Amino acid sequence: MIKLKTDKHEYAYFLYAITKSFFKDAEIVPPDKAVHNMLPDDEGEKEDLIECIFGDETLFKVTVNKGRILGESRAVSLPVTKGLDGESAKYEKLGFVYDFLSEYTGVSLPWGSLTGIRPTKLYLSKLIGLQNEKNGTDHPFDDDIKAVTKKYMADTFRVSEEKGELAISIAEREQGLMKSLHSDDGYSLYIGIPFCPSTCLYCSFTSYPIFKYRKIVPEYLECLKKEMAEAVKLMDGKILDTIYIGGGTPTSLSAEELDVLLSAVTDIMPLDHLKEFTVEAGRPDSITIDKLKVMKKYPVNRISVNPQTMNDKTLQAIGRAHTVAQYVDAFKLARDEGFDNINTDIILGLKGEDVSDVEYTLNRLKELNPDSLTVHSLAIKRASRLKLEMDLNGTDDFRNEFDFEKAMGLASKAASDMGMNPYYLYRQKDMGGNLENTGFARDGKYGLYNILMMEEVQSIYAVGAGTVTKRVYGNGRIERCDAVKDVKMYVDNIEDMIDRKRKLFAD
Ligand code: SF4
Repeated sequence: MIKLKTDKHEYAYFLYAITKSFFKDAEIVPPDKAVHNMLPDDEGEKEDLIECIFGDETLFKVTVNKGRILGESRAVSLPVTKGLDGESAKYEKLGFVYDFLSEYTGVSLPWGSLTGIRPTKLYLSKLIGLQNEKNGTDHPFDDDIKAVTKKYMADTFRVSEEKGELAISIAEREQGLMKSLHSDDGYSLYIGIPFCPSTCLYCSFTSYPIFKYRKIVPEYLECLKKEMAEAVKLMDGKILDTIYIGGGTPTSLSAEELDVLLSAVTDIMPLDHLKEFTVEAGRPDSITIDKLKVMKKYPVNRISVNPQTMNDKTLQAIGRAHTVAQYVDAFKLARDEGFDNINTDIILGLKGEDVSDVEYTLNRLKELNPDSLTVHSLAIKRASRLKLEMDLNGTDDFRNEFDFEKAMGLASKAASDMGMNPYYLYRQKDMGGNLENTGFARDGKYGLYNILMMEEVQSIYAVGAGTVTKRVYGNGRIERCDAVKDVKMYVDNIEDMIDRKRKLFAD
């Protein structure tokens, strides 16, 4: 356990997140919960404590007290640059914390001190700001502006050269793609189907086994219809750019239920300007020819069929309840039915796998030639069975053995071999290798909804249990409202769920 202490409470979250990044296996006690008194010297060891004193704005001081984890005591005081204020002053001090911990542990983090989930949003805003200052346009970005942005992010947040390059290229591609979409005069619709054939070991999404919930599905679909009818009223005057049906696994619904849902979407929602309609078919064990034919009846133009790995042993171990052969069949079936934009997700760092398993997965996927590839670095979520099992068994983090950087390099290379470019990325808490999740796609096959989610340039109206609706204002302000996760509670309280959105979009 490492306790944190600081005199600047507004930096508490950052201190927590950055310490957790350096000491992945340790329990970190955030500053507000820490007992600041030193514990008795137990068995000759003191408690682990990191204390950051930002003091009188002229000196930054960090002290580490040795314990079982930190191992040695150290202290450093650094002069703060005079005249800096606002964000610059904050970033300088937080950079000091990063430098200290990096030097102390001998570890550099690929994304440096950036702890947020949307690093490209920062890059994009810097690029646009500089380009506007220079010549009043925001695209394409000049080379010198890209160089200045990369240097600024490296100096301020200690982002590595490689990640800086990646972020710039993604920000630039996103900016081009967003030209065809609407910002505050547009919106997207997210529909949550919180059912799956079985629960994957690492899952923390809202997902319930369909075999137990079958009876409630008709009522659930009725609620979605009510929500969509209200969405049309509340978003009147705005253009619907994209629709994304996710979950859970939407194809857990029967072909008839899927037909009811898609027919309601096309009857209720204004589709005249729709650019993308995704259904996350996800689990191959939920895909049938009837369901693919149903989707083809409607303007669904992008689906996801996900293996996560092409190794049967791993699939079994992570509770996916399908085989590699089933995945290949489902993928080919979708192609045969005419789907020409199929995404496929993989996860790096699954238990029992090493880099050669990832290489094998990538080679098998190349044979299928998907249109986009989303590469996740395994994050261990608090709400997952995996986390529970690890806690109960006192298991060490098996990801420590896995070479995430090498595996991510192989995935980027495979994506490039398939003619794909990186086009969005996001980070999560406790990601394997402190890396990121990256979406790659071929030109013309980019997932526009994914970009809109990451860059937060338009409102996302979300319907269904466990979903979060996001209102994005023209000035960038964002407000959210969520829906309860429990399906029965969602159905029983549908009027309240709708009312929350009425309030969010009032005025
Ligand atoms: S398919 Fe996705 S949503 Fe369903 S259990 Fe697995 S990880 Fe969770």
